[in-house]
Amino acid sequence: MKNTFIHKGMRKNLVAILEKKGIVNQDVLKAINKIPRHLFMDSGFLDHAYVDKAFPIGADQTISQPYTVARQTELLEIKRGDKILEIGTGSGYQTAVLLEMGALVYSIERQNELFKKTKLFLPKLGYYPKKLIFGDGYIGLKQEAPFDGIIVTAGAPFVPKALLAQLKVGAKLVIPVGDALQIMTLFTRVSASEFEKEEFGEFRFVPLLEDKN
Ligand code: SAH
Repeated sequence: MKNTFIHKGMRKNLVAILEKKGIVNQDVLKAINKIPRHLFMDSGFLDHAYVDKAFPIGADQTISQPYTVARQTELLEIKRGDKILEIGTGSGYQTAVLLEMGALVYSIERQNELFKKTKLFLPKLGYYPKKLIFGDGYIGLKQEAPFDGIIVTAGAPFVPKALLAQLKVGAKLVIPVGDALQIMTLFTRVSASEFEKEEFGEFRFVPLLEDKN
């Protein structure tokens, strides 16, 4: 697993592209500057690792586009020590970004093949999530709730009520909502029973599917 100065240079370029596209959160940019994204993809795809594009990671899934990862993470407004739930572990790249920012991360993946691969892989890079769970993200993780933030990294046809219910007051849920195309949607829990909703443009994700596989 090589991570050389060439990769470093490529990451610097990627960070510059993300800044141009409007990412301002310095902690997010620092994390992207540091994490060897090429190691989250099959070797042989180095040319694709540091361009701003999504890429297949097996089991019909993709590692999200860097801009998308950056934007979603920025919207969560993470502070060190925050307890964050991620739905859709996939390659573990977004998980690594959250860990670099000092979050305590719980992440759920429904594809067993990806779940097993990523569970072995993250510690090799020195990333230790609090818990990786093989399960269905639609139901969240009640036994660890409430969370300071929840991030959904697959396109949700609707907003799962369980996820809203597992937010602390003041916490945020960032979730792409829609079928073929999704609107990045941010919910802030303003009180036990009230949520504020904001929308941040169109994105395209693989679908959030029910049950595990
Ligand atoms: N965060 C990932 C993005 C992976 S793509 C990364 O950085 O690589 C979305 C992931 O969500 C896929 O791995 C898919 O299997 C998973 N997924 C889809 N529906 C899910 C569900 N209901 N619960 C948990 N994971 C789900």
